[in-house]
Amino acid sequence: MPCGVKLELEKELSLKNRIITIPAPKKLSAPKMFAPLRKKAGPAKILGAARMAGIVDELDGEPLAEKLERFAAAQTAELIAVCFDEDPKTSADQAVLRENADQVLAGLELAAQACGVRSRKIAAASREEVNRVRKDCPGTEFLVAGIRYPAVALLRRKLADQGGKAGLIGAQACAALAAAAGRGLAQSETVVTVAGDGASNWVNCRVRIGTPLRDVLAAGKPVPGTAAVAVGSSVNGRCVTDLTEPVTAVTRCVIAMKRLPRRPALPCVGCGRCERACPRGIIPWLILQQLETGSPNPFRLFNVERCIRCQACSIVCPSQIPLAAAVERAEKIKEGRSDP
Ligand code: SF4
Ligand code: SF4
Repeated sequence: MPCGVKLELEKELSLKNRIITIPAPKKLSAPKMFAPLRKKAGPAKILGAARMAGIVDELDGEPLAEKLERFAAAQTAELIAVCFDEDPKTSADQAVLRENADQVLAGLELAAQACGVRSRKIAAASREEVNRVRKDCPGTEFLVAGIRYPAVALLRRKLADQGGKAGLIGAQACAALAAAAGRGLAQSETVVTVAGDGASNWVNCRVRIGTPLRDVLAAGKPVPGTAAVAVGSSVNGRCVTDLTEPVTAVTRCVIAMKRLPRRPALPCVGCGRCERACPRGIIPWLILQQLETGSPNPFRLFNVERCIRCQACSIVCPSQIPLAAAVERAEKIKEGRSDP
């Protein structure tokens, strides 16, 4: 059954140029350095380097060393570098793969060694992306994640359906691990996409962590009267009012919008799109029906605890009903954390 929301190919706009580097603000101190690892360093040393470098995985904000230890404890069978972005406008990790495929691969190899995983793969957005970088990664196995949102959740489900126990790491975390091990560099930079109808120059920027968002936004040449800026994602990110807020390792994009998003909700038309879009087997329209009774039966709020807040149901709904929020509320009711 088709599942997820097809991504618009808008991200090509920000991929058309190489990654530009935004100069670090003077107030930020120079990146920390430490002794690089010797060749053939063992798992403990690699984990130590990830810790010394303070690497945080951009995929989920988890410290890389902790994540690798968790994978080792769970006897993860396969390690996958996520080199695609599942937001229609964001292309930061895809750009990192295009420019630094060898670094991403080197980091993936080290990560696999650190958690004792033999099988590793690079997951790219499309077959074209795989063909583009294959020559830089001889002998590497690739996966095509597809261009349906939420791509990471759909990939996880596909892997689980195949019976594998896979661990996912962001492309930038992989590259940072290679830099930590090979050059003794702490994680100090991240690649961020600037896009949206309020930006006249869609671009991927290499930015020092701690740089104010306003400096990153400036690289996108915002049009006069830009009304809102969102970080995180154009579909489930959050609006930012204070542009002095610093970039962190998990900042994937800065989206400038001409108008504030308005989503006037209409009644459900029973199309079933939300059900087909959900990667977790939840039936959002059914949950909504229960909530609308005013006294939902917790035993009829099926699977709401499985929601991963990906927003796919809200995005596909032609009536623009905020279904993800409804499912979240239903989960709280089911767990007794909220009144109906
Ligand atoms: S119900 Fe939750 S998991 Fe399913 S599509 Fe909506 S937000 Fe995603
Ligand atoms: S996508 Fe929206 S309109 Fe369609 S069934 Fe789900 S809630 Fe109803």
